[in-house]
Amino acid sequence: MRIDTHVHVYATAEQGLFEVGEYPITEYGEKSDVRFSTRAGTVDDALAAMAMAGIDYSAVLGSFELPELPFPPGGERHWPDDPPFAELADDLVAYNRWLCEVGEQHPSLLPFVTVNPAVLTSGQSARLVAELFDERGARGMKLHNIGIRTHPDDPGLLGVYEACQERSAPIVVHCGPDARGYGWATPASFVPVAEQYSRLPLVLAHLGGASWRELAAVADAHPQIWFDLSETVQWVGATNGATVQQLVGLIEHVGVERVLMGSDFPWYEPSDTIAAVGELGLSADAERAILGENAATLLRLT
Ligand SMILES: [Zn+2]
Repeated sequence: MRIDTHVHVYATAEQGLFEVGEYPITEYGEKSDVRFSTRAGTVDDALAAMAMAGIDYSAVLGSFELPELPFPPGGERHWPDDPPFAELADDLVAYNRWLCEVGEQHPSLLPFVTVNPAVLTSGQSARLVAELFDERGARGMKLHNIGIRTHPDDPGLLGVYEACQERSAPIVVHCGPDARGYGWATPASFVPVAEQYSRLPLVLAHLGGASWRELAAVADAHPQIWFDLSETVQWVGATNGATVQQLVGLIEHVGVERVLMGSDFPWYEPSDTIAAVGELGLSADAERAILGENAATLLRLT
């Protein structure tokens, strides 16, 4: 079984192309031959890319980012208990229901829903997440802490951590540095969450991205954390990326059984990601584990 644990889909081609254009990838430095996808990222595009790569299931990861990407008011570290963008609550709910409908229509697409503490209180988020999991087929969550300007230990997120831990539902978090150095999504930024919720299956995306050197210490201390190799595997040999040797060393250090294949479609093609995994020179067993077996265990698809 092949499972892609890191895919994004958009309601329209225009939106998908806009999102890909909005997030140029710079953290890995320079590399001349990175293989990018040319698809727009609609549901049909995702299904076509999956078929081409022989993928059985993909986790479709949501994110609800606000226009203008505001920061918490008053220079505070966390969002206030009274969310300043509460008027967007209906949009956030509708977006998550759309993701769940996509999953209902296409059983190979597993909805990973999302929240935003600038919009919902911790209690509201927890109730929404419970409804999406228990009644609408959500299979996991996604948080892009840089995009939502939120530290992982924000009190507005604690309700969803609790709700996901109760359900053994994975939360995929974007992991890597941010351009301004706030540290919203570095490997270490997730440690307080891992300490407080020791049974919560957190998935640190991109093997830490350009913060990959900081990943091993967090992996050693928190055995419940998983990792996806999306993007990072496409940028091996970049000026600030890992070499093939370093990436294989990191995968072996954290343990092959904790590493998941993700493409980060529509930035990259799942077929190219599978090819990049193949170029690491891992054993056939390790490859099988990373390309699907590990995710099947995490997502209870076996
Ligand atoms: Zn992504």
